[in-house]
Order: sequence, then C-alpha cells, then structure tokens
Amino acid sequence: MNYYLLCNLDDLAKNILVDSRGKFNVRKMKPNRTLPFQVNVTSVSKRINEDFDVNQDINETTSNLMKFVKEYKLHRSYSIQKLDTLKLYFKQYLKFLHKDSFVELSKCDRFSRDNFNGVSIKATRDINKDTILKYVIGIFKKIPKSEEHIVTNEKLNFSLLYTSRTNSTHVLLGPISFVNHDCHPNTEYHFRTSYSLQLKVIKNIKKGEEILVKYSDDYFGPNNEDCECTSCLNKSR
Ligand SMILES: [Zn+2]
Repeated sequence: MNYYLLCNLDDLAKNILVDSRGKFNVRKMKPNRTLPFQVNVTSVSKRINEDFDVNQDINETTSNLMKFVKEYKLHRSYSIQKLDTLKLYFKQYLKFLHKDSFVELSKCDRFSRDNFNGVSIKATRDINKDTILKYVIGIFKKIPKSEEHIVTNEKLNFSLLYTSRTNSTHVLLGPISFVNHDCHPNTEYHFRTSYSLQLKVIKNIKKGEEILVKYSDDYFGPNNEDCECTSCLNKSR
C-alpha cells in the first residue's frame, strides 16, 4: 500500500479516536479533514470513546469501530487490505489511550511549526530507564525519491523520519508521531519490526514529565540549528 493511502487511513483513525474527544486537534496529513457531517456520526464516535474509557477493552472497541466505519461509509473503499490496515491503526491508538500505556496527550504551545497549538506526550507514572514503551507504537513507510518534494508542501502535514543509513525519507504514522523532538531526549526509537517502531526509555522519567525523542541530527536544518526544543532554548539563554 502506498504511503499516501496509509496517511489517509491514519488521518481517519486520528479523527475518530483523538480529535473527536474534543480536547485536541492533532497533526494530520490533511489538517482540515473532519469526519463527514452525517446525523449521529459525531455522537456515535463520542460514545465509542466514552465506552472505551470505562471498559478499556481494545478488541471489543476495535470491532465497534470497524462496524461504525462500514455503517457510516467513512472510507471510500473497503478492500480487505485497507480494512486490515485501518484495524491496525485503531488498535495502535487504543493502546496509546489505554491506562497501561504510561502516557497521555497534553497540549503543547512551544513550536511555531504547529502554530503554537500542538500536542505533547506526558508520563502518567514514573518510568525507569530501559523500559520499552510498548503501547506507544508507530509504523514508517518509505516515500519514493520522486515524491519527496510533496512532503515539503506546506498544505500537507507529515511527520517524517530520515535514515542516513539508506539516505531515505519515511512518513511516520501512529501515536508515536505525537512525540516531540528534543536534542537531549529521554527516549530513543526502538525498531519493533522492519516497518514499526516503539520507544525505549534512556533516562529515568518522572510522572508528569514530557516524553521526548531525537528525530535526527539534521531535522531542523544542519546540526538542528533552527531547533526550538527546550534544550536548545536553554542553551541560547
Ligand atoms: Zn534542539
């Protein structure tokens, strides 16, 4: 499946499971996408979220979400592969929202690229060094060289991952893309499979502290010279 279609499915999962909770409007490939306006769509998605917050049942909620998507025709086509991918995204976001994820979403007004209206992830308990945050998951998909110019289009809003080893750019999808960058982070990317990532904790983290990862050495210009992270701001003071 190409990266563009994966982004579309990820946007839909974010819309239903994060935006429709009403507190956040998270970064998406198409920032202004909202659920199609139909009677009951908003109230059904709100109810599914409220039920999950009480029962914390990932499998049952995923199955309710798949019924919801089909019933209200929230996606244009329904090949088995696309539905399986959507199901995978739903599970990833539900794990992230589960109380056992050790993290929660919070508002973040530090970054100009998010118009000072982004999100961050904070620890809901103390987390020891070397812990794998196995409920903070993401997948990455290589963007063909011929299409890399598309990701610099400001109307779109991708989270990107560069690998110097293969000199390639990937789009990063799933809840792991909510984690903000810091040049002196407390976690690092941990490869789960050849296409998916989790976070590994590299410094003890206190409850309430922000979870941070280093995107790359050159994500915000050469040597991250345009970086707005807290460590860089403190250094320049
Ligand atoms: Zn920095």
